[in-house]
Formats: sequence, structure tokens, C-alpha cells
Amino acid sequence: MIRKLITRLFSSSSARASSALGKRQETPGQSLGIDAQRLPASALNVVRTLQQAGFEAYIVGGAVRDLLLGLKPKDFDVATNATPEQVKPLFRRALLIGRRFRIVHVLFGREVIEVSTFRANPDGHTEAIDGDERSREQLAGRRHAVDASGRVLRDNVWGSQDEDAARRDFTVNALYYDPSRDVVVDYHHGLRDLKARTLRMIGDPSRRYREDPVRLLRVARFAAKLGFDIAAGTLQPIASHGELLRNVPSARLFDETIKLLQTGHALASLENLRRLGLHTGLLPLIDLVLSQPRGEAFVMAALGDTDARIAAGKTASPAFLFACLLWPQVGQRWQELQDEGVPQIAALEQAAEEVLAAQSERLAIQRRISVDMREIWGLQPRLARRSARYAQACVEHPRFRAAFDFLLLRARTGEAVEELAQWWQDFQDADEDGRAALIEQAARGPAGEAVRKRRRRRRKPASETGAAAQPPAGDAD
Ligand code: ATP
Ligand code: MG
Repeated sequence: MIRKLITRLFSSSSARASSALGKRQETPGQSLGIDAQRLPASALNVVRTLQQAGFEAYIVGGAVRDLLLGLKPKDFDVATNATPEQVKPLFRRALLIGRRFRIVHVLFGREVIEVSTFRANPDGHTEAIDGDERSREQLAGRRHAVDASGRVLRDNVWGSQDEDAARRDFTVNALYYDPSRDVVVDYHHGLRDLKARTLRMIGDPSRRYREDPVRLLRVARFAAKLGFDIAAGTLQPIASHGELLRNVPSARLFDETIKLLQTGHALASLENLRRLGLHTGLLPLIDLVLSQPRGEAFVMAALGDTDARIAAGKTASPAFLFACLLWPQVGQRWQELQDEGVPQIAALEQAAEEVLAAQSERLAIQRRISVDMREIWGLQPRLARRSARYAQACVEHPRFRAAFDFLLLRARTGEAVEELAQWWQDFQDADEDGRAALIEQAARGPAGEAVRKRRRRRRKPASETGAAAQPPAGDAD
């Protein structure tokens, strides 16, 4: 499988010393198809303001890469030799943010330009620390804080541009563009790799994965997003370094997972994770999802939908995404609990509780997101009932839209009846009289029956008397 990913073999990565800073190469942007005139005014303003104040400033990273590939950059980042304290006063609306990675956000309306100071690679400046990080770091001066496995805990050592390039992850992510001079600056043959459509880690990949295991996930994400091949040396250490993801704080894992799922290439990224052997242990429950035929169909449909939404310029909420990813487990547990005689709604709440608790040990889902997830799940049995009492309340529920999309997915993957989804579509579109008629029809109707029958068929005989007969008491939203 993994072999399939390698279509090009390049020189071994260890030949490129990790400390090598690379040779500066400049190429006119125009010859590469970049049109400085078409860059957003905000990014140009930030670069020019910094340059006029006597600093170096470049557009960097993903934006340069995407411009060169003819893709629309998601956002524009700027790199400079000015420190965050020097950057901030140059702009009317700017915020100093971050601790592990201090940067400045310059705000233009709703647009944010991220300005980061050139940083040095931890190589040669590291010191293992234990308890008292701060005083040790202060004493260490130009040093990075790393943990016992070599993971960098903070990354605020300022450096020169060549040092900044060396600490970026992939060669194609380490390109700088100066719109004033119209030059692309390249230290690590990023342009060559871009042309060859190859994702290559700068420096010694194994050491770079140890420094920041999140880079393992970034390989899967960028290979999917860009459709690039993974250079052999970059690919080879991945399988044996997957364990390192266990050291990553769960909040950071969450951030990177969201990026992976929300950038329009979720399906391909997840597929890459699986091929790279990284899905296990990341979202412990995803392991199960992907190994269960029914769960897989649902999750794949959800991710495919998400990608399509993003391609259409819409967004996908993290709550909806995670609700989808964990649904196969929640659904299974829900069924088990009902089989044990727990009433339907209580069983669902308990299943959600258990699954979220197990999940949070590895990947912290923020509370506001998990609250929404529970609501999306919690609305599912309520939508199935279509009762006179609650139908209207369901439609007015702040999570109705997401819950309805969720129901559509369940219908598409054969877990709920299509007719039920159609009923809710009609109900939303209907006026007051139409809604009354629909409720009446539902009370007699075949769809409700179909739902009940399907449920019964799936249930074990011992539980026949259980949850389905449960009245909707305590069902108010
Ligand atoms: P996208 O378009 O998906 O946002 P991006 O390249 O801008 O892609 P970001 O995660 O926004 O990706 O990171 C911006 C830049 O910062 C990268 O291009 C890379 O140079 C650098 N970078 C980000 N994360 C890391 C990391 N973990 N290790 C090294 N460099 C990183
Ligand atoms: Mg970016």
C-alpha cells in the first residue's frame, strides 16, 4: 500500500544535514506566474508597512505555494525580522497572540494577516527541561524548550531568514515572496519540488517528526490537499514514529485534526492517514469506525459531503464533523443500552457521554463543540417521532439545521428512512396548515411505521419490549 505512494525516489534525506541552512535562490515572481497586483491589499499593506519601517518582510508559506500552483490561498501569512513587539505598534489594529508560538495578528475588517518573526531551528539550541520550564528557559537564553522525546514545547527563538526557512516543515512550504521586488526566495529547492509535485520534509525527517509529531499529520493533509507524492525519505520514518502523536497535547491534536477535516480534502486526508498507519490512536474511535462496514459508509459519506460543501464555498462546523465521526460508536452503544432496557432518550444521552469521555482522553473536543454534538445526536430520535407536540420545537431548535443534515446523511447510508428526511424537508417548507396536515399524516403515516419496524428488526428479540415503546416523556427540547 505504502509503496504505492512512492512514485519518485529522491536522494536520501539523511544526506541533507538537518542543520544545513540551504542556499538562497531568487527567482522573479513574474516568471513563475505570480501577479503581485492581484494579491490582497491587506497582505501588501502589511509587507510594505514593515519594509518602510526598515524591516525585511515577505509573504510566506501556504499562500506562496498556492499562488504558484494556481490555487486560491486560504489566507496570507507574513514573515519578518521584526519582533512581535516591533510589529504591533506599526498597525492600528494588531494583537499579540500565542505563547508556544508568539505572533501578531493584523486585522483588516474580518480579515487577519498573521505576522511571524523569523525563527531559528531548535537544532543546536535545545535543552531538555523538566518541571520548571520558565526559569530554565530564561536562563537558557537563545534556547528552545523540548521534552524528553525531543518535542519542542516553545518556539520563540528569533533568527534570520535562512534559519526561518530551515525550521519550516516542507520545502514547498518554505518559499518567501517579496511583492515589492517581485522575487520568490527559496532555500531548500521548494520550487523544484513544487514542479515535481513532491512533498519533502526539510532536514532529517525523523528528527523533524520527533521535534513536532503533528508534522506526521501534516504529511497526510498536504499530500491530500495538493495531490503530491511523498518523497521516500519523508515517507519512510512515518510508520515507526506514529506513536509520538501520543505525546502531543490533546488540544493541539484537535486543532490539527480540524485543519485536516475542514480544508476540503477530508476524505483523501483520512485515506492517507490510514495508508500511513496513523489513524490508530489518533481518534481512538476512528479506528473502530474504519473497521466497521456500516460505520465506514456513514463516515465516508459525511466526509465526502464536507468536502463538497467546502468546494462550494460553504463551511462545515466542527460540531457536525465530529458528531459524524463519532456517530457509529454512539449509535452502536445507544443500541446496546436500549437492549439492556435503558429508555431510548436516556440511552442516547449515556452513549454520548461514554463515547465523548473515551475520546477526550486523546483528543480534547472543546466543550462548546461537544455540547452542540450532543444536541445534534439528541435530536435524532426526536426527529423520528414527528409528534404534534415537538415537531415545531424541533424546527426552531438552534441545532435543527445540523440535525436535519445529519438525518439526511443517515438516510443516505440506509440508517434512517428516506421518507422521514423528506417529511422534514416538507415540514420546513410548509405553512401552518401544511404542517398540521403533515403531522396528522405522520400520526397515521407509513414513514413512522417504517422507522419503527426497521428499528425492531435490528433489535435483539430480548429487547423487543424496550425503548421503542417509550413515550416521549421528558422529550421537550
Ligand atoms: P493551509 O493553506 O492549509 O493553511 P499552510 O501551509 O498555510 O497551508 P499552516 O498550517 O497555515 O499551513 O502553516 C503555515 C506555514 O507555517 C506552513 O506553510 C509552514 O511553513 C509553517 N508551519 C506550520 N506548521 C508547522 C510545523 N508544525 N512545523 C514546521 N513548520 C510549520
Ligand atoms: Mg495557512
